[in-house]
Amino acid sequence: MRFDQHRALDAIERRLATDPLRTGGIVEVSEVVRFADLDSGKEASLLRLGLLVDGLARLLGDGGVALYPVAERGLLSDTELTSNERMVLRRWSDDGLLEILPPGAPALARAGEVSALTGQPVLTRAQIRGYALRPTPGGGGSVQLVPVGPGPSPVPDQALRALTRMWRCPVPDCPSYGRPGVGQPPPQLAQGVPMCPRHGERLSDAGARPSVVALVVRIGGLVRQRFAVAAGTPVVVGRAPDQHGSVALGPLLDEEARTWVSRKHVALELRPDGVYATDMSTNGTVVVGPDGRGRLPGGQARRLGERDILELTDGVEVARAGTAAGSSDATAPGSVMADAPTIAIRMPRDNR
Ligand SMILES: [Zn+2]
Repeated sequence: MRFDQHRALDAIERRLATDPLRTGGIVEVSEVVRFADLDSGKEASLLRLGLLVDGLARLLGDGGVALYPVAERGLLSDTELTSNERMVLRRWSDDGLLEILPPGAPALARAGEVSALTGQPVLTRAQIRGYALRPTPGGGGSVQLVPVGPGPSPVPDQALRALTRMWRCPVPDCPSYGRPGVGQPPPQLAQGVPMCPRHGERLSDAGARPSVVALVVRIGGLVRQRFAVAAGTPVVVGRAPDQHGSVALGPLLDEEARTWVSRKHVALELRPDGVYATDMSTNGTVVVGPDGRGRLPGGQARRLGERDILELTDGVEVARAGTAAGSSDATAPGSVMADAPTIAIRMPRDNR
């Protein structure tokens, strides 16, 4: 039982991030852990985050999507959670997977701010202004996310400017703005001044944020992996590319696809005028675009259109995040709750 709980929390941990390139929704954790009607379990349970991850994955058809969790510091000493759950929360906060706000800070307002800055919904039952999805019990222990509110609205200019810069927090080892990287959380804006949401400190400008494009790998119509290509750093996708920062598909492919996809199959690179792809494979890569299909010429970089899809083999695609799947035989995403203790949480089941 305890072992199952550890495994379930590990699976959930892999789907938490404060990097909007990886996330598809925002949650206020102390609210979500108390959605007892979702599983008829105890008053508060951290495993409910997993039910919401699964609900979002099903809604988006994206088996790799992460949640952006926000909470006020009191959650770390919430005695309705087990001591193990509190320990896990502290670790998530230290690792930058969970954004912990100072005591008394309005966590739901921060969730709404992240939503407004990223265009991603808040998964909440509270009344908020803006884009929200309301978690309700679905059939068989699953969670349905029902859209409420006006949907995503355009990001204000001032906020957009804040999102094009890298930020540094004066607090040493700040998990959010301590180490520069392309995946920083959006800063908190107080009258337009960028602040660290964890420390309430004014952030200093650490230079232009490298431009970056979010891409996805879809297998059988379902997003199985997300990755980002930043200017000046090509990314190799293949069965088992060995470079640092490459995207290894081997474990996600079935036996047939593994024979068709090369170890290093295709390289992607962000240049000032767009994303370029270079075929490195034995069996070739097909570009599927609005103008039809064509083979990617071997060994030479070709610029991709925004809606072009790269087909590594049947059903294995690389495309920009947010584009529609080229193949229609989508399957349901796997559940992060596969290892959850079944006494506390009923398994979400899909009838497909
Ligand atoms: Zn900070």
